[in-house]
Amino acid sequence: MESLWHRHAGQWARGPGESPDRWALAVDGATALEHGFARGEDDPGDSWSEALATLRHAELPVTVVTRVTRSNQRSLEAIGASIRDADAWVLTFPEVSGPRADALGPRLAMALPWALRAATRWGERAFLHGAPLCLVGPHASQVLDEEGRSFAERCGPCAARAACPGVDVRYLERFAGDELRPRPPGAIGPRADPLLPAALRVL
Ligand code: SF4
Repeated sequence: MESLWHRHAGQWARGPGESPDRWALAVDGATALEHGFARGEDDPGDSWSEALATLRHAELPVTVVTRVTRSNQRSLEAIGASIRDADAWVLTFPEVSGPRADALGPRLAMALPWALRAATRWGERAFLHGAPLCLVGPHASQVLDEEGRSFAERCGPCAARAACPGVDVRYLERFAGDELRPRPPGAIGPRADPLLPAALRVL
């Protein structure tokens, strides 16, 4: 599918070239240090405060995207409190690769309770991305809809599989999907692509 997103004036923008209708920006920590660590920045510098300032002064609706990591999973509520000006907040379980994958990639069953708590407290415009439906309990309607990624053997008989985002193939190779369990179907949330650019789903 053709992406709705492009870079415009240094920002992720959705919509036609010079006239975007939405911005997206990443806020990956509750502090500059946490934000910089997730992004692999040796010197976090001003990127965290610049992102918050961009949000504060934006004249278009903004999706804030937070890549959930091992080190920021306990800070998600604090991150949510810092981005109250956003139109939507997406907590994405990013596809992580390379030498930092172990340091960054969260264990889903441990990170999701923190993400669910932060998202449900933030409000109806907070969404989870890349969360398998069997780990979100009654909150399937806050999971963004996207093409299913990879599935474990035990997903075979699952009634929710048709709508489930599955898991990243690297995650499955590492943990074999031992926390996944078949569940009844549930109504899922809106499509992912209109709300966040693919480039903000990875680390
Ligand atoms: S068991 Fe079902 S809900 Fe869980 S990841 Fe597999 S398909 Fe999705």
